[in-house]
Amino acid sequence: FKSYAIHRWGKGILGLCANGDLGLVNPARPDDPPASLPQLLHNLSARGIDAPLILRVGAFLRRSLDDLNTTFARAIAANGYGGVYRGVFPIKVNQQAEVVDRIVEYGRPYGFGLEAGSKPELILALSRNLPEGALLICNGIKDAEYVRLGILARKAGINCCLVIESPGELNTVIAEARRLGEKPMLGVRIKLTRRVSGNWADSSGDRSTFGLTTKEVVDMLETLRAADMLDCLRLQHSHLGSQVPQIMDIRQAVDEACRFFTELRRLGAPLDYLDLGGGLGIDYTGEARATDNSMNYTLDEYCANIVETVRYAMDEAGQPHPTLVTESGRAIVAHSSMLIADILEASYFDRSEPVTPEGDDHHMLSDIAAITGYLTPRRVQECLNDAEYYREELRALFRRGVIDIEQVARAEQIFLYVVGRIKDLVTQSGDVPPEVREELNEHRDIYRANFSLFQSLPDVWAIDQVLPIAPLQRLDEAPTRRAVLSDITCDSDGKIAQFVLEDGIDNALPLHELRPAERYHIGVFLVGAYQETLGDLHNLFGDTNVVTVDFNDEGVLELQHEVEGDTVSEVLAAVEYEPRQCLDAFKAIVERAVRSGRINPGQRKILMNTYREALGGYTYYEHLHEEEAHG
Ligand code: PLP
Repeated sequence: FKSYAIHRWGKGILGLCANGDLGLVNPARPDDPPASLPQLLHNLSARGIDAPLILRVGAFLRRSLDDLNTTFARAIAANGYGGVYRGVFPIKVNQQAEVVDRIVEYGRPYGFGLEAGSKPELILALSRNLPEGALLICNGIKDAEYVRLGILARKAGINCCLVIESPGELNTVIAEARRLGEKPMLGVRIKLTRRVSGNWADSSGDRSTFGLTTKEVVDMLETLRAADMLDCLRLQHSHLGSQVPQIMDIRQAVDEACRFFTELRRLGAPLDYLDLGGGLGIDYTGEARATDNSMNYTLDEYCANIVETVRYAMDEAGQPHPTLVTESGRAIVAHSSMLIADILEASYFDRSEPVTPEGDDHHMLSDIAAITGYLTPRRVQECLNDAEYYREELRALFRRGVIDIEQVARAEQIFLYVVGRIKDLVTQSGDVPPEVREELNEHRDIYRANFSLFQSLPDVWAIDQVLPIAPLQRLDEAPTRRAVLSDITCDSDGKIAQFVLEDGIDNALPLHELRPAERYHIGVFLVGAYQETLGDLHNLFGDTNVVTVDFNDEGVLELQHEVEGDTVSEVLAAVEYEPRQCLDAFKAIVERAVRSGRINPGQRKILMNTYREALGGYTYYEHLHEEEAHG
């Protein structure tokens, strides 16, 4: 359990069950025994819901929302800040109805709102019955229709704030406001000049694609004044970035945002909301340092830094403290979802039983086999070099037709036995050179997991995101294998080779040797933000099953909602094939084969039934069919 550093990145959401299972911890009753994840999977499987699946935990979402709101409230009280905090959730971070609706529900006591970054997101947000006083921040490129909705929805009591992203948009807003005879609530997105560090540095600084430059902001004030609409400008939006690793970057960016804010007020804009956008990081690796996957601050520090900086700047300018707004996405949803996949098979890159060369085998097979005779901690590098040298030579002999396939197969087995002994020695001996450990990584096992990296963890592929991963069972048993994970797409990029472990980021994940006929599941954690939304249909693997669970008042984990993953028909339709037409066309091909006698009627029946069933089935590897086929 300790190997996976769960205590560092898990924020207490996961615990070890008495039987070695990984379990979900109820945040409201942290001393209760954790609810076993393998047991939950077993129960779901009985209902016909299998891995791969995304598991959402309502209580974890609620806790993140509570934490964000109460931590801001504490910082506000501690600093004698005169304003309040009114957060919004950026829909793009996880647009799923089950998630957005819960955020609206759990956020109700805090007047928590939503952020729309596009017209479709606005249309979604307008239908969500936001709490009284909550903001609906309207970002993104806006056409007249978007603007009209934003202006008139205010008449329906929805607190829409249209954030001007470009000078052209301002003209659309003024024209629509005149046409409708209504005054909108406006915000302005300002490009800060300071760039923050991290993966999303490009979304900050004056070369970022969104927002107005200083000159454009000054011009905008004049345009609004001339249109008698300066009183509409109530909010300043200065997005700090995403997953900002350094607290110093946050403080400096907020400081600059405040300079703009106080200046705009001085020029007559009646601003009362300061929106600092996203940026609050998630410590995906639990390292608590400023890297792309971690950050060097806590939620307390983030809130305290913002509140202190704004208070100081406003006091300096002799201006009232504004309402603070943030658009934290990942900090709200990341912890609440996990991807669970079953391991389908493992390729072990060593073996424990010795293999001996046969009588007339090439002498190099005996040379490899002899390596174990001189294997000591001092000669480990030499042994590894020798093993690799002989293997390469034997492969070359095979390619030239000197040795046959059985010999080369035997040579590979002897090599794996030698590697196994070297791995054992390295595990037992502390003073093995780091280069040897590094080289042994070439011989990591490969565990094939039933999921698509491109559909379920796109950031791992796109931006080398490191996500914590752990097995869900046998955590009371020392793992004996070191593996990389490969997915079931036929794309060599579909693998994970960076793992969060107790000693830092490692390129192999400790796992247990698979046991025959026993399911082995892994969990990929903190995947609630962006992953579901950005995933794609590579190899036509569709959405996975999604299951939402929550703890009831008695602390018992309950199934609340399930959505079956895409069927093959659905993904075919998504890429513009008509499943019915596919079926008919295939049937016609099979008919021809029946007529020509290549397929008999019995085979035709099996083939067509299988095709039809597969069309309506899950896109991922299904164990169910095997079990059914075997009676
Ligand atoms: N607001 C805006 C305008 C964004 O572009 C983003 C994401 O980059 C966010 C909020 C959410 O950021 P995060 O998920 O880092 O909180």
